[in-house]
Amino acid sequence: MSRSSSDSDLYPHSPDVLERETADDGFSSGWGLHFQTSERYWIDCHVHARRAPNLRERVDKWFEWSMAYRQAQFIAIDGRPEASETGLSYEELAELVKGDDRLAFLYYPGIDTPDVEPLEHALELGARGLKLWSPTFVLEARPADEFEHPKWEATFKIVNDRKLPILWHVTQRVTDSPYTGGGRNAYWGVGWEKGVTYTNEDLLQSFLRVAKAHPDGHFIGAHQLHVGWDRLEEIFEEYPNVYIDTSIGCFVRWGDTMYPEDQEKLREFFIKYADRILFGTDIGMGEGYNLEIEHLSLMGHMRFVRQLRLPYDELQKVSHQNTEKLFRLEPSSDVRMGNIRP
Ligand SMILES: [Zn+2]
Repeated sequence: MSRSSSDSDLYPHSPDVLERETADDGFSSGWGLHFQTSERYWIDCHVHARRAPNLRERVDKWFEWSMAYRQAQFIAIDGRPEASETGLSYEELAELVKGDDRLAFLYYPGIDTPDVEPLEHALELGARGLKLWSPTFVLEARPADEFEHPKWEATFKIVNDRKLPILWHVTQRVTDSPYTGGGRNAYWGVGWEKGVTYTNEDLLQSFLRVAKAHPDGHFIGAHQLHVGWDRLEEIFEEYPNVYIDTSIGCFVRWGDTMYPEDQEKLREFFIKYADRILFGTDIGMGEGYNLEIEHLSLMGHMRFVRQLRLPYDELQKVSHQNTEKLFRLEPSSDVRMGNIRP
């Protein structure tokens, strides 16, 4: 019985299953023949860490639990220029991350802080890139293309020169999304009341123009840019420096199994674009977050990726290697994580 983990195999096995057929003169051939491919580690590139008196303790607790599910690291994406009541400054995040190789952080300028000084300082302190958030335009009825205004040029020049990644929440779904628990017309409802007439397409086009103008930057669209897989394919083909994370849209609830037709379509896409997809969840940590909900969220995103039954190499890219590469993180290893079981 021959076992392989090639792309064409709809039920790939772990590469060691094949290796055992010949290793040690085939002594263990067939031992563990049912072993499926598995992710070596998970790195979550999309986590909101909020102010809390015991944030350090919460982080420790999180990893105590999630390490058993092979989580190696997460990126806290909200390092603001200035601290706020609920939000942490990039300096506070740098302090949290210091000496803890399970954590990394991003610099998050609001839309009124295009200044490069705090950005450069944040990068000096170890920020791995930037986060941008376009829904503010909708919520405050501001132009959809404000990131293209001259005041932002210097920021994007730094992004391009230093080949930085930007995790960018660009669009927002219209309709509701009971499966993921999302409210109806989030942000848009507010924007429409304030007279916003542009659409998701305008926000998307502005993002794509910025990406095209800065070919050495890496532009990661959060929540799959809220477009379908066929549209994403067109975008990936036209914009080689655009990526997506798996947050919110790539989710399977507890007890659910994806329908075979959906799994097949998604699997094909994830294999074809395995270099362009980063594992991320949009979970939160800190005051106001319910720990059990965040647990279910992380596991629902893991469940989605696992149900794709990806070949071994593609699975490693999506689960952690792409994030390590784009955010220049030290590769996860057994030295750091210990021998992972099960
Ligand atoms: Zn988010």
